[in-house]
Amino acid sequence: MAELGLYIHIPYCRSKCGYCSFNSAPWSGPGPEAYLDALLSEMERVSNGWGAGQTLSSIFIGGGTPTIYDGRALTRLLDACRTHFSWIDSPEITIETNPNTVNAANLDAYRSAGANRLSIGVQALDDRLLQAIDRSHSVAQALQAVALAREAGFTSLNLDLIYGLPTQTVHDWQLSLSAALELSPEHLSLYELSIEPGTLFAAKQSKGTLALPEDDSTAEMAELGHKLLARHGYRRYETSNYAVPGSECRHNLNYWRNGSYIGLGAGAVSSFDGLRLKNVDAPVEYMVRINAGQMAFHDGEALSLDASFRESVVLGLRLMAGVSLSMLQERYALEPQSYYGETLKKFCSQGLIALDEESMWLTEKALPVANQILSELV
Ligand code: SF4
Repeated sequence: MAELGLYIHIPYCRSKCGYCSFNSAPWSGPGPEAYLDALLSEMERVSNGWGAGQTLSSIFIGGGTPTIYDGRALTRLLDACRTHFSWIDSPEITIETNPNTVNAANLDAYRSAGANRLSIGVQALDDRLLQAIDRSHSVAQALQAVALAREAGFTSLNLDLIYGLPTQTVHDWQLSLSAALELSPEHLSLYELSIEPGTLFAAKQSKGTLALPEDDSTAEMAELGHKLLARHGYRRYETSNYAVPGSECRHNLNYWRNGSYIGLGAGAVSSFDGLRLKNVDAPVEYMVRINAGQMAFHDGEALSLDASFRESVVLGLRLMAGVSLSMLQERYALEPQSYYGETLKKFCSQGLIALDEESMWLTEKALPVANQILSELV
């Protein structure tokens, strides 16, 4: 059976981090309760409409900070998923969390409601750097979140870490990585800081007040992360993601394989039967639409075969296993060699992309410049 993921977006956080370009804003007023009601209405509508009769293989409650909701609220959400969709026997159910919103009672409730994977936004295990990026939690809170998650029975933990932070040195990064490894998470996501338009960091950068590390240092941090994690038994399976074998994120694998997914909530995207639907971003507008009986998406697009093929190639190349040539042939009756012609030949002759009979993948040499390569294939 083909994989189908369900993504539920919670657009609220305790405060806004300086680098954050996600669809999230500080929690305020009675909005969050009303938002949860709207989510449940949207879920019911989608499950009776174009999502009818579907079986979920993974659920990912992301944000924002989903654990801003207590155990009772997220139980209500997961119970509704159970009512409105069928699930495979052991679906992966992930909840994203920020260490400043974690407590034992809520974690127990999330587990009882079926959540079996927790993704914790640790970002750095260094209080000075956490402050520099406006995180509203401390190292002690991050460590406590991990301990509480283990006590609640979460056996699948992801820790998100960011490198290339303002004033961060290679040594700082090494200390954060080592401290994270001591916690023995099953999964680690290592992201390079990216300065996105519209963020506080973008404004600081344009004023020249953001002290980012030199490119060479950031490249060294990337290399260090890769080597250290490999030495500790983690397998890099996507450009930024590492797992103990068997603990790869099923939900995200489906996304990188360009599988189908349903997105609920403000700004969420669904991809289904060649259709791409994007919900309105603003939570208030989202709630108004849902409460008026309308669909939440404002943008729908039927992807052409070409566009979908390129997307499958570019997403699949993010995986270390690469993209399956037989899948491309089956879905699109296209092969990358003839489709990309000279462009692909160039990357192959530069040793950046490799192919065999089964698949096509980015080489080790290509990984530091993966984004540039993918932008030529998109
Ligand atoms: S906690 Fe995450 S989603 Fe919320 S503002 Fe910070 S980076 Fe953005």
